[in-house]
Amino acid sequence: MKLYNLKEKKEEVSFLDAIQYGLGKKQGLFFPKYLPKFNSQVLHDLIKMDFITRSTHILSHFISDEISFTNLKKQVKLAFNFKKPTIIPVTNNISCLELFHGPTLAFKDFGARFMAQMLSYWKNKNSTMTILTATSGDTGAAVAHAFYCMNNIRVVILYPKGRISSLQEKLFCTLGKNIHTIAIDGSFDDCQCLVKQSFNDKQLKKNIGLNSANSINISRLLAQICYYFEAFALIPEKYHNKIVISIPCGNFGNLTAGLIAKSLGLPIQSFIAATNSNDTVPRFLKKGIWDPKKTISTISNAMDISQPNNWPRVEELFKRKKWNISNLISDSVSDKKTIKTLKELYKIGYISEPHAAIAYRILKKNITKENFGLFLGTAHPSKFQDTVEKALNIKLSLPESLQSRINLKNISYHMKPNFLKLKNFLLTQI
Ligand SMILES: *Cc1c(COP(=O)(O)O)cnc(C)c1O
Repeated sequence: MKLYNLKEKKEEVSFLDAIQYGLGKKQGLFFPKYLPKFNSQVLHDLIKMDFITRSTHILSHFISDEISFTNLKKQVKLAFNFKKPTIIPVTNNISCLELFHGPTLAFKDFGARFMAQMLSYWKNKNSTMTILTATSGDTGAAVAHAFYCMNNIRVVILYPKGRISSLQEKLFCTLGKNIHTIAIDGSFDDCQCLVKQSFNDKQLKKNIGLNSANSINISRLLAQICYYFEAFALIPEKYHNKIVISIPCGNFGNLTAGLIAKSLGLPIQSFIAATNSNDTVPRFLKKGIWDPKKTISTISNAMDISQPNNWPRVEELFKRKKWNISNLISDSVSDKKTIKTLKELYKIGYISEPHAAIAYRILKKNITKENFGLFLGTAHPSKFQDTVEKALNIKLSLPESLQSRINLKNISYHMKPNFLKLKNFLLTQI
């Protein structure tokens, strides 16, 4: 697969390069040059396949020139080796696509694990690689677990100190071995900025085999396309042209993957980009002005991002497909309304968490009786135990993957948002 750099269109790379570099020149994002399109017969055949086989087919349409079907299938099987996505009915015409049954209880397991498998598959046995990534919560856990104990791959994760839940911290700041976590005195955007600066630093790039695993990495997006097809396969055929999907957005990777699935031929009627009060995109779509504000801390903290990284890919896709961007529904939900929605959902028998609740709320406002509404369940409610228990006045029982880590010690380093300090750490400390 050939990809081009969105900021420097002449720069073209293979999938293997893109997955290794993360970003191109001028910190540009990579985007597939050729977008396959399945005809209705192929789509029909795909829908009949099991999740692993179908996912391999979809991915092979992008990367079959670099890896054989059989080898790809092995990697996909290792990556998606946990409970597959499920659809849980919530109201008459709204269901939740639960993507949180992986090892770190968030949808990010799909992308992070596929990326880890592909990198280790291609990695030169004798070289060392450093994965440097910023997280507002769930990415860190997913990446840490995906790479845990992999040979010659060390992982460094930056996160905003005090702005992610203690349970989230327990999930990935307690692992040790090849996983190093750093609590930064600042916001997620500060962490992301440090990662970008590191990638711009020639000495770092050369000396430590730097790689990013943020949702900017194209491998993660490709992996996420697969569960949109699974959702489609699970939905009764009579609704197949009436599906509206609402996505809780932070860095807009999940939305990008959904839109790529649509561009492949999946007949999704419309997508909804749901945000919390960090509403740069909904304001942009209403007013046409890109005006990111300072990042606000909310109870849906994995979405506390005011400068979403993947937005240029969304725009590129709309341009390439000649879709009208005004067809993208986008709106934001305050913390107060998020809590109200959690209660509303609980009353009708569904325990959710703040991110999915935001997607549900905007979905409900924007569909008709004829639609099949689907909102993405991006994390397990128990990852946001404090908020959910307080809002609903209940006690949640923790799944085993969380329970087993709760008494372990947080072994994170602590650092000011200072690039030279980080650089020194990367070159000398580990
Ligand atoms: C990461 C995350 C999001 C946002 O996903 P993007 O792909 O960054 O838009 C939403 N919900 C949860 C629970 C997350 O962890």
